[in-house]
Amino acid sequence: MKKKKVLFIDRDGTLVIEPPVDYQLDAFEKLEFYPGVMRNLAFIRRKLDFEFVMVTNQDGLGTSAFPEDTFWPVHDFVMKTLAGEGITFDRVFIDRSYPEDNLPTRKPGTAMLTDYLTGDYDLSGSFVIGDRITDVELAANLGCRAIWLHDGCEGLSPELDGVCALATTDWDRIADFLFAGERKAIVHRVTKETDVYISLNVDGRGLCDIDTGLGFFDHMLEQIGKHGSMDLTIKVKGDLHVDEHHTVEDTALALGECLLEALGDKRGIERYGYCLPMDDCLCQVALDFGGRPWLVWNATFRRERIGDVPTEMFFHFFKSLSDAARMNLNIRAEGDNEHHKIEGVFKALARALKMAVRRDIYNYTLPSTKGCL
Ligand SMILES: [Mg+2]
Repeated sequence: MKKKKVLFIDRDGTLVIEPPVDYQLDAFEKLEFYPGVMRNLAFIRRKLDFEFVMVTNQDGLGTSAFPEDTFWPVHDFVMKTLAGEGITFDRVFIDRSYPEDNLPTRKPGTAMLTDYLTGDYDLSGSFVIGDRITDVELAANLGCRAIWLHDGCEGLSPELDGVCALATTDWDRIADFLFAGERKAIVHRVTKETDVYISLNVDGRGLCDIDTGLGFFDHMLEQIGKHGSMDLTIKVKGDLHVDEHHTVEDTALALGECLLEALGDKRGIERYGYCLPMDDCLCQVALDFGGRPWLVWNATFRRERIGDVPTEMFFHFFKSLSDAARMNLNIRAEGDNEHHKIEGVFKALARALKMAVRRDIYNYTLPSTKGCL
């Protein structure tokens, strides 16, 4: 029998906003639902096969500082409202102790959750969703992964960083992640001429770590990550003692392969993107992830090099990228400043990519009448 997967879901700061005054939800005027939680959690409940388990610490519940008759009316209202949207919980666990009590029942302790530790559940396929580090620690203690309602992973220890599958304050991203999965790829391409390592997270935050040995090329590739909101690591050891050709070409090929692999079956994506950014230059990159590589290149450069990259290699970069990612690129650039012109093209590519890879799980179909892309 297939083992059940579980979403262990925190309450305060996750389903409802944690009252900033005293972190105690004991009055209706303090109640506010987390934005997007209804639509997305209802979708997850309906479409995916997770058990829903609420796990919440309610410090001192039942004492004079937090009487039960101030807790239950609001809690019951929250549960009833969620249930009305189809969001029901299989079990609810409330710990009432204070942090200084150090009880094993209090998150991140697992003593309330022993029923899930018997081997009958698929914990590696389960998640804790919560807003505190203790929620991520609970995931580690249960042997599952965490979805951290937090803006980024900064502040986590390396061990917890490995447990944290997603850090976001956006419930749309959580539903997207659980329903459609991650869009990440790693390509390591080694030839006699180059050693190219690329890791790409299409749904990242624009974090870049790029070293190709060519400063100007690094600067251009960084535009793709930053302006495309993709996490991009690129490490290249190329035969620069010969010239820049193989380094630029092979990086483009590996990046194209990475994009193709990360996008997978391409269901739900926008498919098309375009952009017209400007400085003194007008740069335009239109793209289509339609599966057929093609490059239209309308950009000429008067200088032979920009920084340490020969300008003839720009055409070659986009041709190789288009071939490997199987995308149609139509690129135009006009203007006076050569640095601005090519930087504008890379930025436009980034913005076009960002538009084209945007995914809609509520319309999770192939954007094609052919049935494949
Ligand atoms: Mg919380």
